[in-house]
Amino acid sequence: MSLSRTYMSSSVFQTCLTHAFSTEREEIMGLLLGRWTKVKEKDVAYIEAISISRRLDKLKDRVEISPEQLMHAMNEGEKLKLNVIGWYHSHPHLIVSPSTVDLRTQLNMQTLDHRFFGIIFSCFNQEDNVQRLNITCFQSSLIDSCPGHLEIPLIITDDNTYPDYSLYQLSELPNILFSEEKNSFEESLQKKDIKDGLDSTLANKLTYQHNSFIYMEGISNIVDKLSMPIYQNIESINSQLKDDITKLQERKNNLLNNK
Ligand SMILES: [Zn+2]
Repeated sequence: MSLSRTYMSSSVFQTCLTHAFSTEREEIMGLLLGRWTKVKEKDVAYIEAISISRRLDKLKDRVEISPEQLMHAMNEGEKLKLNVIGWYHSHPHLIVSPSTVDLRTQLNMQTLDHRFFGIIFSCFNQEDNVQRLNITCFQSSLIDSCPGHLEIPLIITDDNTYPDYSLYQLSELPNILFSEEKNSFEESLQKKDIKDGLDSTLANKLTYQHNSFIYMEGISNIVDKLSMPIYQNIESINSQLKDDITKLQERKNNLLNNK
């Protein structure tokens, strides 16, 4: 039986969206941590955190869950006393529907636990000068030996306070993406065998120049699209918390005076 619905806290939702909007060049992926419970005999999922690990290979339009990413997420989940309950990825400039590869990946994960689910963020889609964001939460079902698409309702819930772990993950995001960029650049040096032979041929020099440019562009992108917005976001959470402290202090003083 499929999952009846999924709840995601607004702070986790914000971290997922920041991750999804971090690049329009390739798909991003992460795992979802939380718990499953039964409500009126039906399975319900609560997403409380995410796990983002560095990708070892970057494919433009295809993401799969690697055993390393799964292990990393399980370790993180253990620390937080949460389970790995699902996965999410982005479809930049693509429709939100899961691809056949997505449905197969999902089906494989469902064999580990039938309650496992996926979320897709379709972003960077412009229509009539309006940027559109589409989200789907899904599971797979086997129909005539082909994986089919099952839509699961996704409900975003309010956070009373911004949880520490979500804030930590949000601030860690640029570091993870930076190490991905660095890794790709270093790999490109090894592949072309130009690390020590910069003076060898013109072709090698040009390749090195090109790869350095891509690396620089990647880093600027992280600062521009991630670090700056995250910094502003944390600043606004900080001022919100300061306001809350002032209000609580006033309330405390009032209560003490009325004793
Ligand atoms: Zn996909």
